[in-house]
Amino acid sequence: MKPIKFIFFTGGVVSSLGKGLAAASLGALLEARGLKVGITKLDPYLNVDPGTMNPYQHGEVYVTEDGAETDLDLGHYERFTNSQASKKSNYTTGKIYEIVLNKERRGEYLGGTVQVIPHVTNEIKHAIIESLTDVDVGIVEIGGTVGDIESLPFLEAIRQLKGDIGKDNVFYIHLTLVPYLKAAGEVKTKPTQHSVKELRAIGIQPDIIICRTEMLLNDDIKKKIALFCNVEKSSVVTAIDVESIYEVPLNLHNEGLDEKVIEKLNIWTGAPNLEKWERIIQLIKFPDYKVTVGLIGKYVGLKESYKSLNEALVHGGIENNAKVNIKFIDSDTLNEDNIASNLSDVDSILVPGGFGERGIEGKIIAIKYARENSIPFLGICLGMQLAVVEFARNVAEMKDANSTEFNKRTEFPVIHLMESWTDNHQIVQKRDENANLGGTMRLGAYPCNLEKGSKIYNAYQVDSIMERHRHRYEFNNNYRDILQEKGLKISGYSPNGELVETIELENHPWFVGCQFHPEFKSKPVAPHPLFVAFIKAALEFK
Ligand code: GLN
Repeated sequence: MKPIKFIFFTGGVVSSLGKGLAAASLGALLEARGLKVGITKLDPYLNVDPGTMNPYQHGEVYVTEDGAETDLDLGHYERFTNSQASKKSNYTTGKIYEIVLNKERRGEYLGGTVQVIPHVTNEIKHAIIESLTDVDVGIVEIGGTVGDIESLPFLEAIRQLKGDIGKDNVFYIHLTLVPYLKAAGEVKTKPTQHSVKELRAIGIQPDIIICRTEMLLNDDIKKKIALFCNVEKSSVVTAIDVESIYEVPLNLHNEGLDEKVIEKLNIWTGAPNLEKWERIIQLIKFPDYKVTVGLIGKYVGLKESYKSLNEALVHGGIENNAKVNIKFIDSDTLNEDNIASNLSDVDSILVPGGFGERGIEGKIIAIKYARENSIPFLGICLGMQLAVVEFARNVAEMKDANSTEFNKRTEFPVIHLMESWTDNHQIVQKRDENANLGGTMRLGAYPCNLEKGSKIYNAYQVDSIMERHRHRYEFNNNYRDILQEKGLKISGYSPNGELVETIELENHPWFVGCQFHPEFKSKPVAPHPLFVAFIKAALEFK
């Protein structure tokens, strides 16, 4: 096997510079040159995985095909490239320490003193190498900012890897901020100088410095950064602020990033084929139509909480030649009196996934409004569950119908905790109210069969789909018959028919609910069929 080449991304000065986007964009550029790419994220925080972290603090939890709850940057990787993220694609300090401590308890260190170097760093190197097999180039993003105490073992591990696998096989990219000071009327390179100094003190000399900035850096500034940071001027790359994140690959290509990488890593490829990215940018920048989607959520204060969803809606727009404007509405503020005024300017309504009781009744009011006013509606996970609750309460006259997540004593538990169920392979899963938060979810991709002729079938145009899940509660099968009699259509089931996966309404232009999260599988170059159909319905409603 040819030696795999590694590219490491570190970040400096401040967080949220778009390191994940830069890593994903480089992945896209290398793929456009015909290389096979894999991407891994290392997160310095102590949580074992982000599954239990508050979306307000950490943004969305991204779910992989094999059911890992991971950092949202993995969503960028899958959207921008053909790489498939898995449980191995995201390691945190917590997860690494868990492995080391379990080994120590099993006596695997043979009584030796267990230390950060070499035991923790070895485990990090092992995780990196294991996560990136069968690819030409492995891209590794180190979360956090250089200078954080928690990042040190990760930086030490990637420093060591250069010695382990050879200098021609390892490439370091450092992303920093070059702020523009309005009062001084100039950009400032000092934060970048300090951050690279910090990195070099650890023993890592970056090969390229990507400078996030508001304006293009002129030659003098590039020269200055090059001098202080010990790189060639051509290795200082500008990453200018953009309107659409899908412009990043093309911009970085124009700055020569991919060329520099393959040259230094000694990889031979032809020029990249970037047609598909150019086409998408045209469609995003000059659409013929416009729609507004009302997103009724709980975490609307932080847009990162619905990252994949925002992107999937944009993709649905690309396919329909439409700009999608998302109106974020805090469900906590909605009531029967203000619903019409809040939703008067939207062309469709989306209730996304979520956990916990806050804002539930507001969402139900919005769903009722969508149903009664024939406004296109998409309910995802919790959104589907609440659509069932709304229908039970207001159409099937089950007054206090609810999910047992919110009312354990409801007379009509139309959504409940199914304590055991059989999956395709006849394995019985068990869930109960007292289990660990992380342990009882239906996570990852499961098959679902779609009923021919239904709205959802017409969107996908296939009999069977695989979609990703992240939930604990399910449609209560005791209410299937009665709700169907009243007009709720069940259009998608698990292959053995045991689990209800999708619902819709017949006497409505487009009202669909799905128990899974379609947003995790949408890409700009391959928009997800459900979002394409949803945006199309919104355009028709307009
Ligand atoms: N809270 C619900 C459940 O656990 C829905 C979860 C979600 O929307 N992802 O089933």
